[in-house]
Amino acid sequence: MYVYADNAATTQVSRRAAEAMLPYFTEVYGNASSLHTPGQRAMEALQAAREAVAKAINADHKEIYFTGGGSEADNQAIISGAMMGARQGKKHIISTAFEHHAVLHTLDKLKKQGFEVTLLPVHENGVVTPEDVAAAIREDTALVTVMFVNNEIGTIQPIADIARVCHEKGVLMHTDAVQAVGHIPVDVKALDVDMLSMAAHKFHGPKGVGALYARKGIAVVNVIEGGQQERGKRGGTENIPGIVGMAAAIGEATEHLEDDMKYVTGLRERLIEELSKIPHSRLNGDREKRVPGTVNFCFEGIEGESLLLWLDAKGVAASSGSACTSGSLDPSHVLLALGLPHEVAHGSLRLSLSVYNTPEEIEHIIQAVPEVVDYLRGMSPVWDELERGERPHLI
Ligand SMILES: *Cc1c(COP(=O)(O)O)cnc(C)c1O
Repeated sequence: MYVYADNAATTQVSRRAAEAMLPYFTEVYGNASSLHTPGQRAMEALQAAREAVAKAINADHKEIYFTGGGSEADNQAIISGAMMGARQGKKHIISTAFEHHAVLHTLDKLKKQGFEVTLLPVHENGVVTPEDVAAAIREDTALVTVMFVNNEIGTIQPIADIARVCHEKGVLMHTDAVQAVGHIPVDVKALDVDMLSMAAHKFHGPKGVGALYARKGIAVVNVIEGGQQERGKRGGTENIPGIVGMAAAIGEATEHLEDDMKYVTGLRERLIEELSKIPHSRLNGDREKRVPGTVNFCFEGIEGESLLLWLDAKGVAASSGSACTSGSLDPSHVLLALGLPHEVAHGSLRLSLSVYNTPEEIEHIIQAVPEVVDYLRGMSPVWDELERGERPHLI
C-alpha cells in the first residue's frame, strides 16, 4: 500500500475537474481575446468560471482576478495594498513570522523599496490574535496580511476578528487563504477582508492557476505587463483549461464541504490519537483550531529528512513541513516561529489528508510512523544521550 498524505503540498486533480478541463484543450481552444466564434466560446467559459469561483466565496465576479497560482495572488495582493498605502504616505505593513514564503519574500522586496515591515510573533499554539495585530497598528500602517490556515501546522487564524481590528483603524486586510479555500467555509463578506488569495491545486484543481479576490474599490496593481486580460490587471493569454478546472474543483469542494470536513476530521483524529502515544512526541499547533486534514508532529531525537525517506520506503508520502524548505537542512521557519528549539523543530513530520484517503490508509500510517521513529531513534546518537540522561528531554 502506498499512501499519499501530503495534500498540503498539492492534491490529486478530481475526476470532475479533469473531465471539465479536457474539452478546453482539444475542442474549445480559442484565445478568449479573439473576436471569432472559437474565441468567444473560450470567453464564455472564462466568464462562467469567474462566476463559479466568485459564488464559492460569496464574492462578485468583478472581484475575481485569475492568476498563475497562490504565490502570484499573494504577490499581487500585497503589492496592491502597499501601493494604495504609499499613495497616502503610509509605508508600514504588518504580517506574521509564519507566513508562506510567497508573502515573506514579497515583504522583503517591499522593504528594499522603503516599506517597513512588522512580523508579529506567533503564539505557541500557532495562532495570531487580533489583540497582537491591534497593538502593532500605527498611524502609517497600510496593510495587514495574515494567513487564514498555516500550511505546515494547519492552525486557523481568527481572520474576521483581525479584519475588524484593521478596519476600525482604516487599514487594509489581506489573507493568504490558499490552505483554507475548499477545506473550511470561506465567505469574503462574513470575513470582511479586502483581499484574499487562493490556489486551485490545493483543493483538487490543477497546478499553476489561482485567483485573487479584491473587493470593489481596491486598486489592483498588475504584476505581469502585457495585454488587457483580467481587466488589464494580468497580461497573458488566459489559461482557460486551468481556470475551468479551478471552477469545477471549487464547486465540487464547496458542494460537499460539510460532509468532507466531517470525514477528514475523523481520519485526522485517529492519527492524532495514535501518534500522540509515541513517547517524546508533540502535536504542533492548537488541538482544536485547525483545518480538518493537517497534523504536524515533532519526535525528539530524530531528523525530519530521514523520517520522510524511511516513510516513503514504507509507503507513506509525507513532508517535514513546507515543500519549499525541504532540500535545505534549516528547520522550518514556522516551527521556529512557534518558539520550538532547533533540535526539536528538526524532527518534524507533517501529514496532510484529503477526502481521497481511506480509513485503511490511516491504519497503514499509524503502523509505519512508530516503526520508523523507533528504528531511527535506535541509530541516533542524540537519542542515546537523551536516554542516558546526558541531555535533557525537551519534549
Ligand atoms: C501552496 C501555498 C502557496 C503557494 O501557492 P502556489 O499555487 O504553489 O503558488 C501560498 N500560500 C500557502 C499558504 C500555500 O499553502
